[in-house]
Amino acid sequence: MGEFELIRNYFAAAPCAQAGEGVVLGIGDDCALLSVPPGEQLAISTDTLVVGVHFPDACDPFLLGQRALGVSASDLAAMGATPLAFTLALTLPEVSADWLQAFAQGLNQMAQGCSMRLIGGDTTRGPLSLTITVFGRVPSGLALTRSGATPGDLLCVGGPLGDGAGALPLVLNQRRTEASTAQALLARYWSPQPQLELGQALRGRATSALDISDGLLADCGHIALASGVRLLVERDRVPLSAPLLAFFGQDAALQAALSGGDDYILAFTLPPSLLADLIDEGWPISVIGHVAEGQGVTLVDAHGQDVTPITRGYQHFRETR
Ligand code: ADP
Ligand code: MG
Repeated sequence: MGEFELIRNYFAAAPCAQAGEGVVLGIGDDCALLSVPPGEQLAISTDTLVVGVHFPDACDPFLLGQRALGVSASDLAAMGATPLAFTLALTLPEVSADWLQAFAQGLNQMAQGCSMRLIGGDTTRGPLSLTITVFGRVPSGLALTRSGATPGDLLCVGGPLGDGAGALPLVLNQRRTEASTAQALLARYWSPQPQLELGQALRGRATSALDISDGLLADCGHIALASGVRLLVERDRVPLSAPLLAFFGQDAALQAALSGGDDYILAFTLPPSLLADLIDEGWPISVIGHVAEGQGVTLVDAHGQDVTPITRGYQHFRETR
């Protein structure tokens, strides 16, 4: 199978590569063409995943396709953008029809779930790696950036944290656990659900936002730095899922939530007066702290005592002490 046949069979033919809203021209020409309605801006983000670095060699190609696009789409969620399209640059060591078929199906499943079209890409030979670029649209001036957090704002997250990191020992076959627990955690890892609707609901409300990919404390550090504020995280309010608690126990579960990464849950800051409406609308929001003057991120216990971890792995977000 040659390059063009491969593109035609597995990507141009995929349901997610067919024409759709905002896509004027898709796969097959030198460029794709997108149209953005007047008064809206294009939000763009690129992620590369390399075998052996970001995913194991032997992983299921369907799950890989699903996860790769889910992780990329999460950046659109974090900006409050509505997904439009994506491109795929794929480097393959060899052409395996079974692998490509399953990969394209996983990709397609996530693409359909997020309403985004595959509009182009590149196909080359080499060590397995994927680069996905996502395109979304957002009303001009309403994108959720990291830089608007204001002292007095609440610090919120869009769901339980730590499940992605909790799944890692299962993904790597290092540990086992009861089937329903394993299933729940592995699903969170392999099919992250980008919080697109929540991101869009936060437009014009949240003062800053991002998706948690490197662990709560490290990512809060990005907001603190970009906004020139201090973020206080209340340790006992960090939401943890039942499967993670069952697998890891309280202490390790909290550790996974604070510094594990791979969550793809939104963290954002919000003026307190706007919280009640969002809760009424049914969004799964947990308030976990607030924004203060100063810099860096501080973890506090129920008495307000500073319990920011001091182990070496945590050093990079300990600017406050
Ligand atoms: P060019 O030589 O003009 O750069 P290519 O031969 O690389 O174009 O690709 C031909 C068409 O197929 C282009 O529209 C390109 O965007 C698309 N394409 C190539 N690889 C992929 C892929 N992995 N997924 C989706 N579209 C792809
Ligand atoms: Mg060309």
